Amino acid sequence: MESMEQYWEAIQGGVFTRCVDEQDGAGNVRLTNEAQCIIKRFLPDIINIVNTIKSNRIEPYIDKFHRDICSQCESVNPDGSCELRARADCCLDRYFPLIVEVIEEVSGRSLPS
Ligand code: SF4
Repeated sequence: MESMEQYWEAIQGGVFTRCVDEQDGAGNVRLTNEAQCIIKRFLPDIINIVNTIKSNRIEPYIDKFHRDICSQCESVNPDGSCELRARADCCLDRYFPLIVEVIEEVSGRSLPS
């Protein structure tokens, strides 16, 4: 069983290095100025989604992301829409397919394609 730290380190190496909002390699992002970026905040939920869905399509992962994570987020509107998502200003939404890929690799599962 992989540890949260293993997933976090893999995401830092495989995703944050490509994230335009990333500032210091530790998950602190320029856009929101928060101590932890939204990926770190929802990491347990993200890992659970990736490790419970088996599909070669990304859509089921995205649907569950919207159902399980966006529903907990203060930015979501009552109708499920999100202005940050619409503006591509949510780094979790923007990099979700890459995050799924990284978690699949850490978990030793085949990648969605
Ligand atoms: S897409 Fe919007 S509602 Fe979903 S996690 Fe990102 S900011 Fe929150």
